Amino acid sequence: MAFRIGDYVVYGEISNLRKNTTFGYLWLRGIQAPVMVQLLGDMGPQLRGRRLRFRPAGNPDDGPTARGLKFHPQQVGPTGTMLARMVKRPRNNAPSVGKSAEPVEFEWLPCLYLEWFSQNGRIVLELIDPELVVAEGPPIPSPEEETDDSGRPTPGPITFRPIPEGEVTIEEIDVESLPGPFEDTENEEAEVIDLFGSSEEDEEDSPLAAEMRNNTTGEVVEPEDLVSGKHQESDDLAGQTAEELIAEMELMDDLIDNEPGEFVGSILQPQRLPKPEEVDEAQAEALVKSLAMELATFGVALDVCEHFTMKQAYQYMITELIPEARVHPELRGTGWVQHFMTSESCEVCLRETEERAEREKQESGEDGEDNEPI
Ligand SMILES: [Zn+2]
Repeated sequence: MAFRIGDYVVYGEISNLRKNTTFGYLWLRGIQAPVMVQLLGDMGPQLRGRRLRFRPAGNPDDGPTARGLKFHPQQVGPTGTMLARMVKRPRNNAPSVGKSAEPVEFEWLPCLYLEWFSQNGRIVLELIDPELVVAEGPPIPSPEEETDDSGRPTPGPITFRPIPEGEVTIEEIDVESLPGPFEDTENEEAEVIDLFGSSEEDEEDSPLAAEMRNNTTGEVVEPEDLVSGKHQESDDLAGQTAEELIAEMELMDDLIDNEPGEFVGSILQPQRLPKPEEVDEAQAEALVKSLAMELATFGVALDVCEHFTMKQAYQYMITELIPEARVHPELRGTGWVQHFMTSESCEVCLRETEERAEREKQESGEDGEDNEPI
């Protein structure tokens, strides 16, 4: 069964500007801090190489709250089907079906369909007729020769209603100030605290998040409200009490400091995995994603850099991740997320890091030598 998140989303951004990584943020109703989505894999052909901003149709205040939903605030795992398409829906004002023999009137509406697999299992974010803009990359093209159930081609191109000018601009949301896909991965502990941000953490870290969320709904928040806690009680995505959160943090600290962890290979379901040289690119992708899906349920993420093919990613999993990497299976179901990165085994990434370090060293060295008087 899928976890259908569409009804809870008030605003979202998702991008696939680097191969093998789909990254973004979702703002859910009733929750101040955005959910971070960091996925292994690309979006579908129409969405690949693009950055999308979207907002569901209708009033953002109408709908269920995501409080206590137990939706993990840092979603990791592989991408599933991600596409834009036209869907056929009964027209709103169509006469009711039943006794009447009159044919139901249908209309075609644009639909954004995003599926992934995370700590919460299969997630589906389906938005019919949302407001959507492509913030980076070419516009969304029409699907080629797509046909509906009856075999007839769908009518016309996919045209989404744009988010009106001046409403929810990127500057207001300030996604740039949030961590990007390749930042802060070493500081997971701090991230966990921030993202759960309940009770005592609130006053320090939520005004920005609250501001961002409230900008998406147009609600005006007085600074006093932020301090008084009027808007703070809602920030409880995981549905955890402060005591539970503290107990979780202590478990995390204890395990990380004192326990070596278990090999990744020992937590996976026993299965026969083909040798990397036996699979083609498509098979490798299916294997990598199916392993990543399983690891995601333990809060374990694999970040595949843009230089790796899926065959290379599979090779990395078989020869390095599964036999050598260690994880803490006891932290399954907590806020903990552990990242493994192919960039640590990628010649191009390692060379880039080395060159960057060299450049920085030279620049600081030059600054020191050419200490020109002003
Ligand atoms: Zn790389």
